[in-house]
Amino acid sequence: MKYYVLTLFPEMIEQGLGVSILGRAQAQGAIELKAINIRDFSENKHGHVDDYPYGGGAGMVMQPGPVYRACRAVETEIGHRPRVLYMTPQGRVFDQRFAEELAAEEELVFLCGHYEGIDERILEMEVTDYVSAGDYVLTGGELPAMMMIDCISRLVPGVLSNTQSAEEESFSGNLLEYPQYTRPEEFMGKRVPEVLLSGHHANIEKWRREQSIRRTFERRPDLLAKAELTEKEKKYVERLKTEEVSP
Ligand code: SAM
Repeated sequence: MKYYVLTLFPEMIEQGLGVSILGRAQAQGAIELKAINIRDFSENKHGHVDDYPYGGGAGMVMQPGPVYRACRAVETEIGHRPRVLYMTPQGRVFDQRFAEELAAEEELVFLCGHYEGIDERILEMEVTDYVSAGDYVLTGGELPAMMMIDCISRLVPGVLSNTQSAEEESFSGNLLEYPQYTRPEEFMGKRVPEVLLSGHHANIEKWRREQSIRRTFERRPDLLAKAELTEKEKKYVERLKTEEVSP
């Protein structure tokens, strides 16, 4: 997977994604990341890339020319027209399913706005997907792009050492993950659930599945409605509703 991030703040992207698992994934070649400074494509002698909005109003708007030239440069490098994701609060809200869809691509281009956003004409010309980090407004698209690259990369083969850990996590099958514990067995009077110490794999699996269902029921009932449950598990949910089930 190769990521291109078009931004006014490339150092933010490079620093934010250059450490830990994603830093290692880049060093090993599992992913490639190129942060491209839109300002480098300004034809203004002062390097300006923004101007006042037509019709008046607060703030500045990023001009179409530098974004256009930056997109062309990426397209020339890749050799075809890539999928271009514009980071915007007006887009489809990013989630695990969307990440899975995007992880199947060979290249992804993230376009990060700043100030009041980007001139609409260039968005109409270049953007294939309008993507939001959530229903709130940030100062720029860099944090959403970093968040999405992090999430997508975890699904790229070779990024995580144990692929199972991505498959079993929260949102797989529309369930949240079960609670996790590590040493010590007892911490400030609170013990690890006995079943996890039993070594009985079938019982551990059963307990974890129930905990996943319970946790999703308590924290994200909207997800649970979409989860694939067996008849027995559906009955378990019914019992949870009447609080007949002990933790
Ligand atoms: N005026 C724009 C509006 O009301 O839709 C918001 C502009 S925002 C201050 C500046 C930039 O931050 C946007 O162009 C976008 O790239 C990014 N941004 C802000 N909130 C975002 C969100 N929730 N998801 C993705 N990108 C966001």
